[in-house]
Amino acid sequence: MNNAIESLLTFDIGGTWTRFGIDDGFAECKLLDRIATPSYANGEQNSEHSRAELIQLIRDQIDRFTQHNHNTTIQNVAISLGAALNGNTGTIYFSGPLWGSSRSDNFDFSLELKHIFPAITFHIVNDITAHLLWYIRKNSNINSGKTVLITLSTGIGCRTFDHDSKSIPLDADFGIQGEIGHLPTTPTINGRSFEAVCDCGGENHLSAFCSGSGVVKHWQQYRNLILQATPNSAIRDLSSFDSQTINMLIRDNDAGAKLFIAALVQPIGNLILTMLTMEPAIKEIALTGGLLESLQPNYLCALQTHLNKAGLYIISDFDRSRVPNLIHVTPECPVAGMGGAAMYYREFIGNKQ
Ligand SMILES: [Zn+2]
Repeated sequence: MNNAIESLLTFDIGGTWTRFGIDDGFAECKLLDRIATPSYANGEQNSEHSRAELIQLIRDQIDRFTQHNHNTTIQNVAISLGAALNGNTGTIYFSGPLWGSSRSDNFDFSLELKHIFPAITFHIVNDITAHLLWYIRKNSNINSGKTVLITLSTGIGCRTFDHDSKSIPLDADFGIQGEIGHLPTTPTINGRSFEAVCDCGGENHLSAFCSGSGVVKHWQQYRNLILQATPNSAIRDLSSFDSQTINMLIRDNDAGAKLFIAALVQPIGNLILTMLTMEPAIKEIALTGGLLESLQPNYLCALQTHLNKAGLYIISDFDRSRVPNLIHVTPECPVAGMGGAAMYYREFIGNKQ
């Protein structure tokens, strides 16, 4: 066991951007560079090619860093990756934003990197896990029970941290947890719904309706149902999803825009109520992500309205503020993925070596 705190190089690899930085284990994680990720989300159609480009990107950053820091020996690198992966083994399952609908089972990221840098061990963690750890370090006042983080962004996902066991419990066989974006759901507008295919290929998944990419992809279906209920809504002039215009229309009291935001948050609200019903140990639920931020404050307002209306059986009759008080919106932090990946290494891996 190594008791000395080593500075860690760390990457946050998302569908849009790859961030590279250094975390010294004491103060802030420092961003050194931000590069567009060679990914499906950035227009790369060939997943084999984009994986090779990503490996090259990591290689270039590490080479450049070591050239500028002559005496530095790097032993470990922490990586936050925007992909569903087996937290027990590091096997990558799938990432729509990085590699489209192709499965990634045969892509051993750590091994590929190990071939290039035999002296370095790469520790890869799911990006939502990294963000949850960062949130707990920076924002949470909870030290018992459970903290849930839900990301509402290009995709949708969630992780739960158990403060009592100081762990993020994973499925024993497949090493995943909280992949809520691929649960079936149906948002309704005026009692009617529509069918939607998810980026993963599944039908009527939460992400297909309620994620950033889902809303963009299925905007026409949303708009058609909204206009059936509110024919005079200015939504009719909105040919593609645009959060700024939605916010403006809500401010102007447009019935169609209000119907849209209510439908968008409804499945998320119902899921939150299910979580709280099944797991009373949940003490806080943090919401983050680009879609959420782009629709604020309207998103939280609509969500709280739904949560207040639906409520938790019995509990909300006695305590109306119970559910609203558990919900916290946390702004996106540019170093959260990198810092969280470094934390994961230090707290769950490094001390066990
Ligand atoms: Zn899906």
